[in-house]
Amino acid sequence: MIRIEDVIEKVEKNRPDPDIDLIRRAYLFSALHHRGQKRASGEPYLVHPLEVADILAEMRLDEMSVSTGLLHDVVEDTLIDLDTIREYFGDEITRLVDGLTKIAHISNLSKEKQQAENVRKMVLAMITDVRVVLIKLADRLHNMRTMQFLKPEKRARISQETLDIYAPIAHRLGMGKVRSELEDLSFQNLYPEEYKKLSKEVEARRPELEVMLEKITDLIKEKLRENDVPFIEVEGRVKRLFSLWRKLKKRKLTIEEVYDLIAARIITPNDKKICYVALSVVHDIWTPVPERFKDWIGNPRDNLYQSLHTSVISPTGQSFEVQIRTEEMHQIAEEGVAAHWKYKESRLGKREEDESLDELRKTVEKLLLPLVETTETTEDSEDFIESLKLDLYPKDVYAFTPMGKIIQLPRGSTPIDFAYAIHSEVGDNCTGAKIKGRIVPLRTELQNGDVVEILTVPNSKPSRDWLNYVVTSKARNSIRHWISEQQRVESIEIGRKLLEKEAEKFRLSPKKLLNSDDEMKRIANEYGLGRPEDLLASIGYGKTLPRNVLAKFLGAEKFAELDPEKKKETRLESGMKAVKKFIGLGEDAIIIKGVDNLLTTRARCCNPLRGEEIIGYISLGKGIVVHNKRCKNVQQLMVNKERIVDVEWAKGDGQEIQSVRLLATTENRTGMLAGITNAIAEIKTGIRDARAEVSKNDRGLIEVTIEVFDKKHLDKVITSVEQVPGVIAVERVNS
Ligand code: MN
Repeated sequence: MIRIEDVIEKVEKNRPDPDIDLIRRAYLFSALHHRGQKRASGEPYLVHPLEVADILAEMRLDEMSVSTGLLHDVVEDTLIDLDTIREYFGDEITRLVDGLTKIAHISNLSKEKQQAENVRKMVLAMITDVRVVLIKLADRLHNMRTMQFLKPEKRARISQETLDIYAPIAHRLGMGKVRSELEDLSFQNLYPEEYKKLSKEVEARRPELEVMLEKITDLIKEKLRENDVPFIEVEGRVKRLFSLWRKLKKRKLTIEEVYDLIAARIITPNDKKICYVALSVVHDIWTPVPERFKDWIGNPRDNLYQSLHTSVISPTGQSFEVQIRTEEMHQIAEEGVAAHWKYKESRLGKREEDESLDELRKTVEKLLLPLVETTETTEDSEDFIESLKLDLYPKDVYAFTPMGKIIQLPRGSTPIDFAYAIHSEVGDNCTGAKIKGRIVPLRTELQNGDVVEILTVPNSKPSRDWLNYVVTSKARNSIRHWISEQQRVESIEIGRKLLEKEAEKFRLSPKKLLNSDDEMKRIANEYGLGRPEDLLASIGYGKTLPRNVLAKFLGAEKFAELDPEKKKETRLESGMKAVKKFIGLGEDAIIIKGVDNLLTTRARCCNPLRGEEIIGYISLGKGIVVHNKRCKNVQQLMVNKERIVDVEWAKGDGQEIQSVRLLATTENRTGMLAGITNAIAEIKTGIRDARAEVSKNDRGLIEVTIEVFDKKHLDKVITSVEQVPGVIAVERVNS
């Protein structure tokens, strides 16, 4: 069994001045709390954290990581909580342990295979420190190495997860060695039969392959020496079982058809020019296959892998691959991100600390491309590893449905985006949301790991407001679509009403026109519109004037004859109007349901209030703009009489709030603002804003924005403000 002294020895060898005491304390703590626990193999549980710490020491990670390796299962598997860890080991280790515990929870959710990519991204997104990933990989590696004691189903499940999530992460981080081992172990445990069959096939051929490899590597060495090309090593290898198996399956090949079943690798001193010289030597010995040449030195892979790959054919027709890379490239290919610790230690002195920090950060960024967008810049950090804190997916956020399905959204998304991401109907019917069981406002920004429950009510509708706080185009488009549908429905309704009214002015039966589909269609076509509804919608939007539609319906002659503009109202007609008004029937006005509806807006100039007398003006493309009848602009608008339309407030519940500005002129004395706001508050009226200033003629000017339901309410407020001692005058102001 491995001992803590072995681990400590490695740390001491690889790092200057390590905090060995910390590692010893972590060891004792772990031993104490895991005591009595056993692994599936029957060994003491402590073996596992010890081995994980050893793998981390082997990767040359710092003592924080090694200590976290020792402690990584304590919170998950014993009664110890994070607070206790913090008490004994401080914030940094606590953060690392917490990160690992979180991953343990996420990976339990990865049952659906198609979500593997999401889980992978989420694991990375939830981690803010690269060391957490490395420790997790070490943990997984040791578990995979000791899997033989588990039941086959459990082995298969863990192996699948390793293939789906952890091997790709190792690949992204350029950690070729860890990735290969994880893949081969997963293959062995997930498909034991196929593994056995394939390894038998390879073993049967191994003696022959080894002889071939020896000949190849000897020849390469000889020719390199002959040409004075320096090299550190030339090695031969048989393709790994997992990648061989994947290739056979994908390409439907037999083992004999695989050209890179064996490969040679030349490792040169750290000068990439030597690689190209070595390449020419190799191409001198054997015939290259041009289309298989790859220059990963000139164009490094995203994970910073660098190497020259060339496939050649021997005189006997055997093809194989030769890889050429420098020692440093080799180390990066094998160890990825972990290799960079090494370079930092060996290459750079203390003085260059700051630069080295920058350099390292840049390297890690590149290594994690294309995943990394930005990193936090921590300039004063003493511990250079601190600077490795990364937000690996800064643009995305991952949230869950209550059923555990992962929804990936851009940062800044809200529950509405989430709802539309589930289904457009869920979005349309969304009325509220719960995050982690608590009701939250719909504009709440989602955080990684949020469990979001969308509350819906059948047939409820989206709100135009939502457009202000959605970020996904799916949500935005769905809401817009709904609004334009709604607008169309309303504009058709309003258009119909306007046309009816206009027809009445001409003393035509509105039905005669509206029910004549052919006529309506003909007129619609004249406007370049398809259907009668389109014509009505166009009238409703204010694009087409009802008067002109009538002109087309009647023909010029008849139109002129019936035109009410040129005719005096008969006595009977004016009498009827008066009677109608008297008995409260009013005219057939357009009903304004509340303010700022889809097709009706309040004019800014007079900000008409519920309860006030109003008049509508059909504004081009904006629908009906509602003015106060006494608004000074109405006079001007009257010039376009045909655009004026009667409107009145719907008899609603009157609970719609509207803000109104009041300006009070007062004596210049203290307490005026308080006196006025108190008076307003006393009659239970909301105040949105209040400000006071002194005018040139030494008057107090107090402007208050209040929230009122209607004209009556406003009058009440004005009366009570007028009664505040010191108030000289109160008036309503509009922008
Ligand atoms: Mn573990």
